[in-house]
Amino acid sequence: MPDKSTSSDAPAPAATETPQAPTPARKIYPIVKYGDAILEKPGAPIKKFDAQLEQLAEDMFASMYAAQGVGLAAPQIGWSLRIAVVDVTGGKNPEARIVLANPEIVHAEGEVREEEGCLSIPGFRGYVLRPQFVTIKAQNAKGEAFEIRGENLLARAFCHEIDHLNGVLFLQHLSMLKRDLIKRKIKKLRKQGEW
Ligand SMILES: [Zn+2]
Repeated sequence: MPDKSTSSDAPAPAATETPQAPTPARKIYPIVKYGDAILEKPGAPIKKFDAQLEQLAEDMFASMYAAQGVGLAAPQIGWSLRIAVVDVTGGKNPEARIVLANPEIVHAEGEVREEEGCLSIPGFRGYVLRPQFVTIKAQNAKGEAFEIRGENLLARAFCHEIDHLNGVLFLQHLSMLKRDLIKRKIKKLRKQGEW
């Protein structure tokens, strides 16, 4: 039983509850922004599953958390490769970390229209129709094949990241009117040196 009388005045500890094992320093990549051609070309399939790839996946998680995203695809950090990471808990649950190498959608079901954004298109959001349930097959960073089913936000993240690996951005799912509006605004920001 916790002793409330002694703990009530104590300031809340800032440390996390679970002690962290020492981990090697991670590279935080800058996120490639819309306008860079790498975002609109398909990534190359992952063929070599080695320590370098595992390191890239870890760096991708670190870069994604630093940017406060729930998904990140390799082209977004300058690697034209078919690998993405997803964590819809934003780092709160280590078990929610998913590495997707060479992912493919094998089944999709239902429809959900929800607002979506992208780390490569900061400040802009739009409603995108996505399946409610998605089953994908992929490989992890060691090359082991697996299947995973996602619902709602997770299904959306899978679709969004697989799109990235195919050189597709969420803008392409918007109406032409909305897409052109966002593109014009980005063009203006670029002219002002703010993109
Ligand atoms: Zn994105």
